Amino acid sequence: MTAVFDGHNDALLRLHRAGVGVESFVEGGDDEGHVDLPRARRGGLAGGLFAVFVPGEDSSELPEDATSYAIPLSPRVDPAIARDAADAIAAGLFGLEAAGALRVVRSGAELAACIEAGTIGAVLHFEGAEAIPGVAELERRYEQGLRSLGLVWSRMNAYGEGVPFRFPGSPDTGPGLTTLGSELVRACNRLGVLVDLSHLNLRGFFDVAAISEAPLVASHSNAHALCASSRNLTDEQLDAVGDTGGIVGINFAVGFLRDDGRFDSSTSIAVVVDHIDYITDRIGIDHVGFGSDFDGAKIPEAIGDAAGLPRLLDALGERGYGDEAVLKLAHGNWLRVLRQTWRS
Ligand SMILES: [Zn+2]
Repeated sequence: MTAVFDGHNDALLRLHRAGVGVESFVEGGDDEGHVDLPRARRGGLAGGLFAVFVPGEDSSELPEDATSYAIPLSPRVDPAIARDAADAIAAGLFGLEAAGALRVVRSGAELAACIEAGTIGAVLHFEGAEAIPGVAELERRYEQGLRSLGLVWSRMNAYGEGVPFRFPGSPDTGPGLTTLGSELVRACNRLGVLVDLSHLNLRGFFDVAAISEAPLVASHSNAHALCASSRNLTDEQLDAVGDTGGIVGINFAVGFLRDDGRFDSSTSIAVVVDHIDYITDRIGIDHVGFGSDFDGAKIPEAIGDAAGLPRLLDALGERGYGDEAVLKLAHGNWLRVLRQTWRS
């Protein structure tokens, strides 16, 4: 089975919200959400960025069936509340590790060993830096295992502005990074923490591009040329990712895939492959991977959940991707970029 590394899942938030113990993840069987250990094994899921995301007070839902929408930026989250919530959600990851469901990886060598062994190599990732009030806290979280950080989710914080969800819409929605944001990017570079650009607005994206010495990474975003969601990447953003040797993780969320922006789960796997075609044609086969948004979004029924990953790999083969290309997309590119970023 082909091992898959996935650039984004919200399994920790699902487990936290459901208030269930690690056994539901280890044993599976409830078929809730998209990721648990049995389905990961069936699908070849051998690792990923496990997001610690702190929800806000209002959980504005994305529209089910709209062909156009404009959801404003979510309100700021209080840093003290974010810190407590992040601790509780991250504890879920270490609970899964203690139960033997996965290993929290801190280096490329550890991740490569997991992919080799078929163990899930989980990267502790924060989606939004509200719980990290400064560089000292970043260093503390690094010691805890943090290796990937999105400065913002789709809201404003001390570091920058995320994109509000809009369709059709542009990611160019507001100002770029704050001074603190620039400082945090430099600190991430120094420690070897990945700076994730998904959810960041266009000016923030290019501010990071101007500062960062690491490959540019958008862990779960698609091509704006094919789906004009504000969450997707313009051609110039894609080019910047390619120029730095970075990676775009293809998001399976149907609203970020379809040209009509609808949240329609009957969307075919071919549409996922269309985005992969577009981005590989533009910036090369070395700069695309997966960023499913499992447990955080409505995805094509044809993939269904983590167990459906082999159907996507089959579709790539049918589209003409050879074995070497499929391996790059499945995990090779992610492993290369993470090793380069982490310098380990
Ligand atoms: Zn996200």
